[in-house]
Amino acid sequence: MSAGKVYIVGAGPGDPGLLTEKAKNILADADVVVYDRLVAKEILQQIPKHAEKIFVGKSTGSHHISQHKIDRILVSKAKQGNLVVRLKGGDPFLFGRGGEEAQKLRKAKVSYEVVPGITSALAVPTYAGIPVTHRNYASSIAIVTGHEDPTKREKQVNWKKLATSVDTIIILMGVGRLQSILNSLIEGGCDKKTRVAVIERGTTKHQRITVAPIGHMAKQAAKRKVKPPAVVVIGDVVKLQKELSWFKR
Ligand code: SAH
Repeated sequence: MSAGKVYIVGAGPGDPGLLTEKAKNILADADVVVYDRLVAKEILQQIPKHAEKIFVGKSTGSHHISQHKIDRILVSKAKQGNLVVRLKGGDPFLFGRGGEEAQKLRKAKVSYEVVPGITSALAVPTYAGIPVTHRNYASSIAIVTGHEDPTKREKQVNWKKLATSVDTIIILMGVGRLQSILNSLIEGGCDKKTRVAVIERGTTKHQRITVAPIGHMAKQAAKRKVKPPAVVVIGDVVKLQKELSWFKR
């Protein structure tokens, strides 16, 4: 039996047209596809009929399946000789645990390749009409996670320091702790008039944008019942959103 292999593949941010050609070709050859919740339905429909589909999605709070178990599935399916596609939303190496999975595969002596994907961190602002840099408004960005568990050994974001260190802050997984994150940024010196955009389900027909000054955003988001998945963009570039809005659902 030939040795199997795992392709850790980015599926893009939602719009199925943003799947790369390389990802599409690999998917067409898959024996097993292990996929997450944020992978678009239209992309899942491209999985070959004979391929085994394994859903390992997680949503905040309810972990359907542990990371350890996912690692075990990848290793065992590959060792049985399969071409395994580990399909993840956006880019697999940006808050997607792709790095951890690659480490586990290496340790288990399973060969792997990584196929980058278009990340929601950049594509979602773009579909909302927000250029994350602009010569008049922003020459630096930071992409940070808002979903930190203080009880875990994860690296913590220094929000107060971040407040004045970069021009554009892009937060993923930030809806649950939005109020406390925005408060920390204000405490850290972020101007209260700074614009914030929260973009839900970006690049899809369900895309919804909420814009408010940083001091009012938490209230506004609660009023509009903002839900994940959403990307939060903070900075002067948000001022361009109305002018540059282009995506029609
Ligand atoms: N690896 C992924 C990110 C995984 S973390 C990537 O590169 O895009 C999951 C977070 O991504 C969500 O909580 C949300 O903040 C963001 N996200 C993913 N898809 C999104 C979408 N279509 N619209 C808004 N946010 C999205």
